Amino acid sequence: MSRYTHQNPLLIEGSVPGRRGVRTATLDVPAHSLGDMLGAENLRRELPMPELSELDVVRHYTSLSHHNYSIDSGFYPLGSCTMKYNPKVNDRIAAMPGYSRIHPLQPEETVQGALQIMYELQAMLAEIAGMATATLQPAAGAHAELLSLMMIQAYYRHRGEEGREVVLIPDSAHGTNPASAARCGFTVQTIKTGSNGNIDLSGLKAALSTQTAALMLTNPSTLGLFETRIAEICELAHQRGALVYCDGANMNALLGIARPGDMGFDVMHFNLHKTFSTPHGGGGPGGGVIAVQRCLEPFLPVPVIIHKDGRHYSLEEDRPHTIGRIHSFYGAFLVAVRAYAYIAGLGADGLREVAENAVLNANYIRAKIAESFPAAFPQTCMHEVVVSAGGLRRHGVKALDVSKRLIDYGFHPPTNYFPLTVPEALMIEPTETESKQTLDTFCEALIQISREAEDDPELLRTAPHHTPVSRLNETAAVKKLDVRWSTGG
Ligand SMILES: *Cc1c(COP(=O)(O)O)cnc(C)c1O
Repeated sequence: MSRYTHQNPLLIEGSVPGRRGVRTATLDVPAHSLGDMLGAENLRRELPMPELSELDVVRHYTSLSHHNYSIDSGFYPLGSCTMKYNPKVNDRIAAMPGYSRIHPLQPEETVQGALQIMYELQAMLAEIAGMATATLQPAAGAHAELLSLMMIQAYYRHRGEEGREVVLIPDSAHGTNPASAARCGFTVQTIKTGSNGNIDLSGLKAALSTQTAALMLTNPSTLGLFETRIAEICELAHQRGALVYCDGANMNALLGIARPGDMGFDVMHFNLHKTFSTPHGGGGPGGGVIAVQRCLEPFLPVPVIIHKDGRHYSLEEDRPHTIGRIHSFYGAFLVAVRAYAYIAGLGADGLREVAENAVLNANYIRAKIAESFPAAFPQTCMHEVVVSAGGLRRHGVKALDVSKRLIDYGFHPPTNYFPLTVPEALMIEPTETESKQTLDTFCEALIQISREAEDDPELLRTAPHHTPVSRLNETAAVKKLDVRWSTGG
């Protein structure tokens, strides 16, 4: 148990018999022992606790906190995750007591402002999506996918179209897409990516049938590419009576520039915790808004916020075709407040600038590292770029080794080995919030690492060298966390 000792020798593991944190003044009132208060039979005879001074403990926890990596401490180019910087002002606004202290069981008349925020945010997101309306209820992207598919199921049931049991999903899709479809009871059929990185149209045509319920597409795709024939693809699906779902978890490339609804999509989801200013990576809460066209509106989950006579906001529960309830109360309200503040603060022009800079930054990296790490597909990318480390195979070096070495340079690694269709994939998403200086330093580190692969491949294979722990069995490490002090037994 000497993991952190390179940084700080005075740690919890360094218990010293007799050392203590606080010395209290001598009692001037009668003493009660714990045994008096709890009953002696409830006391363990021995409770081995580390014996430390207050300073030992403060240094221990401060040292642990420095082992966290976050967007506040450095560049975090984890593709498909949009780890962008979220302005602190939006957190401050969400923490204002008028928002943070209200209770979901308060009478409607006393929370009109909160309902107005949610109602207006839905309208803003529906506008960004190019769709009729939206609901803020799903807790995350995967939850939003499940909700959308449940609504699609209800839609076909309502139309009496039995037998639409298949959902088509490209092979590059995020893993949640097939998982949500299967969870909802659909059969998943995979569509291959063509050689240019876009969906293979002939494969799609062959797969579409009267059994197709929906086509789930990510645009830009998880290869970071814009699906250029999207209008034609939606048209093909609609001709077969199928609906088209847009996985819009990462809307950073499209904000204010293009709208999925205009492309022909019938339903989409947003991840508020990726695109709209809720920090993520710590386990939540997040927000997965879905926006829908009119045809799906009757099936929205309850409650639905309505705006009666243009004055009073209320929650409507009585909706004959609703799929029911999917979240307690109305979803994560403070996540909605952050998104509202973010959108209102940027305005339409600001949102468009977000997208322009996200795309510019990704292409800057794509071009700058092209000799060392060529992009998997040659065309201009969107908000992220998928490159291959396959060229380093001849030195016995893998994408994983490159990522581990990046940690030594102080960077969080990009997404590895995803999409599965690209050999030795590194998926880099710089986001719009990073400066040119940061991008330059990152690119120089990658280029330097490709030189190291040639000169000293072992250096990469054994990286990282400056972290408390080096290579872990990542599956086991997640399942068997070792975060507890023990006497060593
Ligand atoms: C993150 C992501 C999801 C899933 O979102 P969660 O909020 O993690 O459930 C789905 N699709 C894509 C493309 C994503 O990047």
